[in-house]
Amino acid sequence: MASTLLTNIKLLAGVRNRNSLLRGPDLRLLSSIADAYLLVEDGVIAEYGSMDQLDDPESFAGTMINASDQLVLPAWCDSHTHLVYPASREMEFVDKIRGVSYADIAARGGGILNSAARMADASEMELLRSAWGRLQEIMQQGTGAVEIKSGYGLTVESELKMLRVIRRLRESSPIPIRSTFLGAHTYPLHYKDDHEPYIRQVIDEMLPVIAEEGLADYIDVFCENGFFSREEMARICEAGKRFGLVPKLHVNQLNSIGGIEEAIRQQALSVDHLETMTGQDVQLLGQSDVIGTLLPTAAFFLRMDYQPARALIDAGAAIALASDFNPGSSPSGNMNFVVSLACIQLRMLPEEAINAATINGAYAMGLEDEVGSIQVGKRANLILTKPIPSLAYYPYSFGTNLIDKVLINGETV
Ligand SMILES: [Zn+2]
Repeated sequence: MASTLLTNIKLLAGVRNRNSLLRGPDLRLLSSIADAYLLVEDGVIAEYGSMDQLDDPESFAGTMINASDQLVLPAWCDSHTHLVYPASREMEFVDKIRGVSYADIAARGGGILNSAARMADASEMELLRSAWGRLQEIMQQGTGAVEIKSGYGLTVESELKMLRVIRRLRESSPIPIRSTFLGAHTYPLHYKDDHEPYIRQVIDEMLPVIAEEGLADYIDVFCENGFFSREEMARICEAGKRFGLVPKLHVNQLNSIGGIEEAIRQQALSVDHLETMTGQDVQLLGQSDVIGTLLPTAAFFLRMDYQPARALIDAGAAIALASDFNPGSSPSGNMNFVVSLACIQLRMLPEEAINAATINGAYAMGLEDEVGSIQVGKRANLILTKPIPSLAYYPYSFGTNLIDKVLINGETV
C-alpha cells in the first residue's frame, strides 16, 4: 500500500467532518488545523490531525514530506470550463484592443462561430492532444477536478466529436472530469433567423446519441438576448432531463431575461456567470437551492462589471467560483488568479473565495463525495504552498506562483 505522510504543516485548511454546501454567512467558515499532519494511503486521505496527536512518525515506512512553514489546501474544483477547443483567438483580442466592436468581430465570423468553423476541421486526435496539454497545465496550477463543456461544434457531428474528446480525456485523466452538453451555445449563422430547425437538431439528433453513448452528465444553454430565449432554454432543459441530463446553465452574463427564475424552475444544479443581476434575481437565487457560479476572469477579460458576490452572499446564496477557461473570454484556467480576483474585485473574503473554489465547486459538479475538502476518504488532491506567512497572503499576492507541489491522488504532479 502506497503511503505518504505530510508532517509539520503550518496550516491544514479546509478540514471537514461532513459535507455541506456552504451558503450565505457559512461561506466564511474554513476550518483549519495549525501544526498538522496528514496521511495519504492509496491516493486517499486516510487520517489527519495536529502534530501532537501523531504517534511515532519515525517508524513510518512510506514517503515523508516535511511541510513546515507550508500551507496545505484542497485542490481547486473548477466547475465551469470550455477547455476542449481547436485554436486560440488572440487576433480577436488584439482587434478588441484596437477598438473593433464585438458585433463587428462577430460579423466577420469571429467569436464562437470562429471556434465552430475550426472545430469542423479539427480531428479528434488534435483536439485531444491540445486539451490534454491544458489539463496538465491546470493540474500544475492546483486544479484537482474539472467540468468541461461542448458547444464549439454546433453541428451534430462536431458536438459529438467534442463530447467524445471529453470522454477520452476522462478515461485517462487522474482528476475527475464532468462533461456538459452545450449544443445551445449560439445559433449557427444559417439558423440565425429561424431557430426551430437547430433546436430540433439539438433535441432530436444530438441528445439521443449523447444519452445512448453516456457522453454527458449535464445540459447547458446560453440564455441571453440574441442567443437562446428563456422559453427556448426551458424547452432544451426539459428535453435534456428526459435523457437524464441535469441543467447547469449560462445566464445573466449580458442581460437579465428571466434566466435565473427559469433555472430555479428547472431545478438546475447551477447558474453560471451572473454579471448582470437585478435585485430580484439576487433574492430569488439567495432563497433557492441552485448554486451561483461566478466567473470573475471572464468579466476581467471582457472589461465588464463584476458579479455582485457580496449581495448574493448577503441574500444567502451558495456561491462557487470557476475559471470559464475558453479561447474567447477567459483564455486561462488558473484558479489561483480566479480566487485572487474574487477577493480583489468581488470583495470576497479569502475564506469565502477558497470555499467557493473548493467544496462549493465540488458540489457544482456533483463531486462533493470525492473532492473539495480535507476529509477522510476523499481523494488526496492537495495544494502544498511555498512557505507563506498566512492564508490571506495566498490571494493577496496575486500573480505570484505560490505553489510548491500539487498532489493528485497522493502523487506529485
Ligand atoms: Zn462559459
